[in-house]
Amino acid sequence: MALPLQDTSRLCIHTMTTKPWSLREAIAGYVRADVPAITVWRQHVEPVGAREAANLLRASGLRMVSLCRGGFFPATTAKARRDAIDDNRRAIDEAAEIGAPLVVLVCGASPELSLSESRKQILDGIAAVLPHAQAAGVKLSIEPLHPMYADTRSAVNTLRQANDMVASLSSEQVGVTVDVYHVWWDPDLESEIQRAGKSIVSFHVCDWRTPTRDLLNDRGLMGDGCVPIRQIRGWVEAAGFSGDIEVEIFSDAWWATNQAAFLEKTRSAFIAHC
Ligand code: ZN
Repeated sequence: MALPLQDTSRLCIHTMTTKPWSLREAIAGYVRADVPAITVWRQHVEPVGAREAANLLRASGLRMVSLCRGGFFPATTAKARRDAIDDNRRAIDEAAEIGAPLVVLVCGASPELSLSESRKQILDGIAAVLPHAQAAGVKLSIEPLHPMYADTRSAVNTLRQANDMVASLSSEQVGVTVDVYHVWWDPDLESEIQRAGKSIVSFHVCDWRTPTRDLLNDRGLMGDGCVPIRQIRGWVEAAGFSGDIEVEIFSDAWWATNQAAFLEKTRSAFIAHC
């Protein structure tokens, strides 16, 4: 088991965690709360544009961890697949412009395709955008999603599948994201984290609530659920990961509250449970 964190020096907040805040409000709120790092979602960049977002982020002094999200490669028509590849190239450009070293991929799935066909299209899609990522100096990471999302959000549902894809792409430019919400249940998690080793490029935390009232927007604050977060952090650190610990909470309940107060709770929960 990892030792408790002594401070918030590795705390990163996703702008989706404080979704009601604009990018400008999120930056100001994180700086005020002494949060050192940020992961930016594209929907928070969009209203101001990448150039202005880059200016705001640079001036804030916040450490840029990643841009969320690219992916969604599988589709039933060739045109839709090409559009997805184009959109991923734009996400890579956006990441480069705002200074994010990484684009996280929610790989996608289509209920009209078999899972194996979706996985093939994901691999083809990543391979197609890889040269663009290389040229931009931006890494890509495959984030396995909980199997409850295998119909529309991701046909990559275990860390083993993500590791297999990284192995077959065989590029330093592609790694994996371990998000405890998606993989905590996996009996092979510890061994697949060991196998991933240095290819773990990011680590996301929140908690699994019982009961979960909504499949998408009912993630818990760390400590409010059953995920052994500190144990999983110990595994990723034993595998060589020493980067930021990113709090990514989608929650209609928390979004309805005062976001500055929620951020304070998040800081305390980070120390107590991560
Ligand atoms: Zn995540």
